[in-house]
Amino acid sequence: MLPAIFFGHGNPMNAISENAFTAAWRRFGLTAPKPRAILAISAHWYVPGTGVTVSTAPRTIHDFGGFPESLYAVSYPAPGDPALAHRVEQLLQPLPVQLDSAWGLDHGTWSVLCHVYPQADVPVVQLSIDRAKPAAFHYEIGRKLAPLREEGVLIAGSGNLVHNLRAYAWDRPQADPFDWTVRFEDRARELMLANETKPLLDYGLLGPESALAVPTPEHYLPLLYVLGARQPADAVSFPVEGFDGRSISMLSVQVG
Ligand code: ZN
Repeated sequence: MLPAIFFGHGNPMNAISENAFTAAWRRFGLTAPKPRAILAISAHWYVPGTGVTVSTAPRTIHDFGGFPESLYAVSYPAPGDPALAHRVEQLLQPLPVQLDSAWGLDHGTWSVLCHVYPQADVPVVQLSIDRAKPAAFHYEIGRKLAPLREEGVLIAGSGNLVHNLRAYAWDRPQADPFDWTVRFEDRARELMLANETKPLLDYGLLGPESALAVPTPEHYLPLLYVLGARQPADAVSFPVEGFDGRSISMLSVQVG
């Protein structure tokens, strides 16, 4: 059975940078069993409804503004996998799932995968995050998708456990994280290691720092898909650790 993993993607510039995070992403790609396909759940496809990309050649979406031209030049030409899209639709029945040929791979997906699988030789399907639904819904989708792990599919969430751009230190990315950044991450780690899911679904109540750590849900929710796919015997590990700009946790969470 393949692991499932949540990546903290952070700044889109990671796509064209070499740093401790990108090195750890590459290490994961080299050491984990190679999947036959990837189902990616990115913070940046946060829309009404649940959709899956069904194109055979998903486009690289540059969904950000104000970055250097070299970042817009990046293309991640991984093929799609329409059969996997249909399998996802089947696993999620009776939930209506839109087979989407307009979306492609957004930067939450490709800025990480271009390091994990730089050859772009593993097909990728993206699953949208329904912005109208509560945390428990997203966890439940992860639970329903867990059988994919036995079918050679890597379930990969991409967001950030702590993500506050208002507090982000744009001019000092290496500065020490805020106390609340660390406290929230520590608490979430303890709960994941103890396999206590309920408080992670009620993440707004994790502590006084919750509102600062998760001011909006979209970067946190991809984690819940990965936790939903966790099986009783699975260990939890954190193959990438660290912080960016004081208010972003770059933690990766691996189950299995
Ligand atoms: Zn993001």
